Amino acid sequence: MAEIHSNGSLKIPEIKFTKLFINGEFVDSVSGKTFETIDPRTEEKIADIAEGDKDDVDLAVKAARAAFDHGPWPRMSGSERGRIMMKFVDLVEQHLDELAALDAIDVGKVLSHGKAREIPFAISVLRYYAGAADKIHGKTLKLSNQLQGYTLYEPIGVVGHIIPWNFPLGMFFFKTGPALAAGCTMVVKPAEQSPLSALFCAHLAKLAGIPDGVINVVNGYGPTAGAAISSHMDIDCVSFTGSSEVGRLIMQAAATSNLKSVSLELGGKSPLIVFDDVDVESAVNLALMGGYANKGEYCVCSSRIFVQEGIYDEFITKIARNSKGITVGDPFDPSTVQGPQAHKAQYDKVLSYIEHGKRQGATLLTGGNPCGEKGYYIEPTIFTDVKDDMLIATDEIFGPVICVIKFKTIEEAIARANSTHYGLAAGIATKDLNIANTVSRSIRAGIVWINCYLAFDADSPYGGYKMSGFGREFGMDALYKYLQVKSVVTPVHNSPWL
Ligand code: NAD
Repeated sequence: MAEIHSNGSLKIPEIKFTKLFINGEFVDSVSGKTFETIDPRTEEKIADIAEGDKDDVDLAVKAARAAFDHGPWPRMSGSERGRIMMKFVDLVEQHLDELAALDAIDVGKVLSHGKAREIPFAISVLRYYAGAADKIHGKTLKLSNQLQGYTLYEPIGVVGHIIPWNFPLGMFFFKTGPALAAGCTMVVKPAEQSPLSALFCAHLAKLAGIPDGVINVVNGYGPTAGAAISSHMDIDCVSFTGSSEVGRLIMQAAATSNLKSVSLELGGKSPLIVFDDVDVESAVNLALMGGYANKGEYCVCSSRIFVQEGIYDEFITKIARNSKGITVGDPFDPSTVQGPQAHKAQYDKVLSYIEHGKRQGATLLTGGNPCGEKGYYIEPTIFTDVKDDMLIATDEIFGPVICVIKFKTIEEAIARANSTHYGLAAGIATKDLNIANTVSRSIRAGIVWINCYLAFDADSPYGGYKMSGFGREFGMDALYKYLQVKSVVTPVHNSPWL
């Protein structure tokens, strides 16, 4: 078993919030039950967290409904909402180190990356929607000689946000940011594996002046707390990020309850297509960054790297060398590039896919083993000689496992890249504009990166084609998920109806 890296002087954050956050207060769950959140570095308990279920969701929805129907948040001007949201942004920025440390201990995120990239990006998203709150405009309608009208964009109501464990803090703001700007109220259910940072953010929201009941946080398990949200008769919209299997359950629950609107951000098996004309060393580093980002626990990971035959051998040599150079270790250690997998079930799942890869005849180029004596660490792993129907090529592994696949022609690359049920993201590496344009138009995915990867911006919408879901995060597209349009029509002159 390989060693993992740790410098021995690691700063662990204090855990201040462990209860549910309902109507502006931290409260125990109705049942009094708690669950343990586990540190993936040590496999030891971090804290006992209040475990919400249906009764707690009911209380949270009641608070959110009252705040929506009678409270100031949906009624105040957009600029006033934006002003309060900017205060929220400032507070999050002031507590950036603490929030990054909470995600590092809860799901093994590399602290330096969280502080430098991930949380600043989440902050930029919240700031974007704070700025958007007073830019929600309808249209004027000159309908006929007899009729004129206008449209009003109104908040959709009470929103249920069900979020996964791979970006606990980021996802909190990707979901709450646009919903807050729209004037909605909400119940957030973090993943049971990552309950900590959302509670801290709820505390900051209150300090910022977001009225009680607007944001409620109910930690708990999917089949209990999550299902209570998706089937609730008084929730108007559910925004879900997670697995395709649970996405199906969410849609079924919405269909058999109150037909609430649903948006789904699901999994991916994203291709990065590398053409012969690139600088191989740069393309290798792009592939490793896209494939291993957040230890591969990233729905848009470039888990299938298609490499054109002219550079394939050189690419393989270099990617093996550079992959071996990646430092796996404690996320609090400044030299660490890859931390532990977020939790035991995910760790086991990734290792079992590695075994499938070996059994089905792919070549293990590098990695493939757990690391260290404790914690959920896995070596960065690359397979070659991967056939398109092998499980490692078809399934979302959600771990540091890359498949490198050789191709000859542009047509072949497009066909094989598209031969998946998923359609979340894709990357193209080439100096040839014709190739870049042809491939980007042919790929069935919600975001395509040309000569870059994971290049997100708060203003650039992203989401799934095919079984990667529907609805968008970021940009004004995400804001419109939380609005509904009302047409108001009136006669131009004396009404013939009255
Ligand atoms: P999941 O879909 O099981 O969980 C995501 C969220 O849904 C969690 O908050 C969970 O508690 C909740 N949930 C679970 N069952 C529910 C139910 N019946 N009703 C309502 N809510 C429910 O995902 P996971 O177990 O955290 O991860 C499994 C796989 O999902 C991953 O391996 C990966 O393939 C995928 N995933 C994708 C993304 C993404 O960003 N697209 C993020 C996380 C996970």
